[in-house]
Amino acid sequence: MIRMQLPWLVFTALFIFLTGILIVWIGYEIAHRRRVAERHRHWIRCRVCSFHFQADPTDKLPACPQCGAQNEHIPAPLI
Ligand SMILES: [Zn+2]
Repeated sequence: MIRMQLPWLVFTALFIFLTGILIVWIGYEIAHRRRVAERHRHWIRCRVCSFHFQADPTDKLPACPQCGAQNEHIPAPLI
């Protein structure tokens, strides 16, 4: 049997509880960022007018629907 004083017992229980919450929080945040990145993988930001649009991944130089400029497949940065 482990003998502990009450303040250390409370501290240990609180530490384990908060560590569990932190681990779940970090795991959720990583999964959320992966979902958002996957959802915006085919979105492109026009280099001329900064318009965000979804492009066909097989199209080498997709044209911007706003200004007609051709853009490379560089994913738009997540805001
Ligand atoms: Zn444009």
